[in-house]
Amino acid sequence: MSRCVLRCVEAPDAAHRQRLLQFLRERHGAAAEELEVCIDPSLIGGFTLTADGYTYDYSVRCRLRQMEDTLRHSETVCEDPKAMAEAMRQEIRSFVPSTEPVELGAVEEVSDGIVTVSGLPRAVYGEQVLFDNGEQGMVMDLRRDSVGVVLLGESEGIGEGSEVRRTGRTVEVPVGEGLLGRVVDALGRPIDDLGPVKPDGYRPVEREAGGVITREPVSVPLQTGILAIDAMVPIGRGQRELIVGDRQTGKTAIAVDAMLNQKDTGVICIYVAIGQKASSVARVQETLRKRGAMGHCIIVSAAAGDSPSLQYIAPYAGAAMGEYFMEHGRDVLIVYDDLSKHAVAYRTLSLLLKRSPGREAYPGDVFYLHSRLLERACRLTKEYGGGSMTALPIIETQAGDVSAYIPTNVISITDGQIYLESGLFFSGQRPAINVGLSVSRVGGAAQTRAIKKTAGTLRIDLARFRELEVFTQFSSDLDRATQQTLDHGRRLLELLKQPQYHPMPVSRQAALLYVATQGLLDDVPLEKVAALTDALMERLEMEHGEVLQGIEETGTLSGMAAETIRSALLCCKENLS
Ligand code: ATP
Ligand code: MG
Repeated sequence: MSRCVLRCVEAPDAAHRQRLLQFLRERHGAAAEELEVCIDPSLIGGFTLTADGYTYDYSVRCRLRQMEDTLRHSETVCEDPKAMAEAMRQEIRSFVPSTEPVELGAVEEVSDGIVTVSGLPRAVYGEQVLFDNGEQGMVMDLRRDSVGVVLLGESEGIGEGSEVRRTGRTVEVPVGEGLLGRVVDALGRPIDDLGPVKPDGYRPVEREAGGVITREPVSVPLQTGILAIDAMVPIGRGQRELIVGDRQTGKTAIAVDAMLNQKDTGVICIYVAIGQKASSVARVQETLRKRGAMGHCIIVSAAAGDSPSLQYIAPYAGAAMGEYFMEHGRDVLIVYDDLSKHAVAYRTLSLLLKRSPGREAYPGDVFYLHSRLLERACRLTKEYGGGSMTALPIIETQAGDVSAYIPTNVISITDGQIYLESGLFFSGQRPAINVGLSVSRVGGAAQTRAIKKTAGTLRIDLARFRELEVFTQFSSDLDRATQQTLDHGRRLLELLKQPQYHPMPVSRQAALLYVATQGLLDDVPLEKVAALTDALMERLEMEHGEVLQGIEETGTLSGMAAETIRSALLCCKENLS
């Protein structure tokens, strides 16, 4: 026989007791035979009835709470206080309380954002639960007699014995156009003082990635506007390309430049900041705003000061927002900055949940943590919406060690990596991309034809240069061929230097790559390469606008266009000397 408990302010008479028992028998069959009565003045009035793990809450306290909830989520906003008061009165009058039974548990222990809850035997993994103080939590550990809940808010007001309510839903975030231009936290709540977000709907944070039937091969380029990347490690829409490097090597700068370059392309950008300093997130926001790119961006911020639980769900929340656009046929670029901190946040949660630590104290499923996230980035077939989600996860390495646990995991999940090196960065080669270690496994199929054609020999020329540079660094007299290879390599490296916030359009990239790979810059003094290429571009824009436009429109570099670029360069060279 299960326990049936009646909580009330005043003890019921015999007739009332019989009616309640009858009600329980109808709902829960033979289970209801005995009624245990507890007097609880905190209910204010009415009663609650608990049987079989379900609670029927007909107390005044519950009604007030439900009403408060309705008012809090009300979208009525009036300028005039009188009108506002009237609108609220109207809402209170039309308020209908819910009479559905709820499943309530009780808090056993709260510590470091982890709440142990008993009495929720039917709770499922990933489910959202609500606490007394209005905060939400996510079920992350199912034990025999209790569940481990990760708190997604303040723990103030939650203590031993506090009520916890099942919702039957997984944790959800708002999605839709209303989020564009906004900065939100990991639960999609605005944190930018621009008022409430108007979502088109809600989506679960965690979702299984689409199967192979829903996907299409990557074939459309995603131009980052960074010459070294678009030429040598091209990224296609739907690809996952890792940006990996030590601290302060320009990882965020590459991601932000790629986002800036999506202005006017229709690609929606989502920047997920995980464990970053709040000041860095504010800087990214300010950069995007100043350059007029915030309109097509969403920033999801779980900064270093936020709890590990929010840092843990932030990238999944960003992915849910991106998937909405992807399924509506839009192209999305999502940046996870950075997944090393995400893994650390998850390790913290796992250790607090008393899961056994594995290598480097990470839990055993840390690979799955990132694989299930990055699998959600893809290009969909027309029948499934036809959009795409390109992911640029960022990983921070320690002293250039790419063979550490988390970097190797993410390298094996992604379709290639852009490896940034401190040595290059400090020697002034920025972006500090190590050409030898950076690869893009699928992007080649999507590369713009003009760039593919002109950048063909770039990689191999640079590799040859690097090799020779090491061998010849102590020798003084070099033969002509070696000297030529070295000169050519140095000019190429000079060309690949690109300041921050100066994304290059395809036409400029193709023109510069053409003159450089043809060896037309090899006789130009190194320090004059930048001035010459600027002069060339200016000349082309002023006198041969149609050539640049032709490249932009067709994505190809015709023989005629190449000839025009070559002669324009010769003119510029004459003027330079
Ligand atoms: P962290 O590890 O702290 O996140 P990070 O690798 O993301 O650093 P950034 O913050 O992007 O690095 O860049 C570090 C510094 O280098 C910044 O001051 C940035 O302005 C500068 N920087 C980045 N890229 C370039 C560039 N191409 N040209 C000149 N300066 C650059
Ligand atoms: Mg950074």
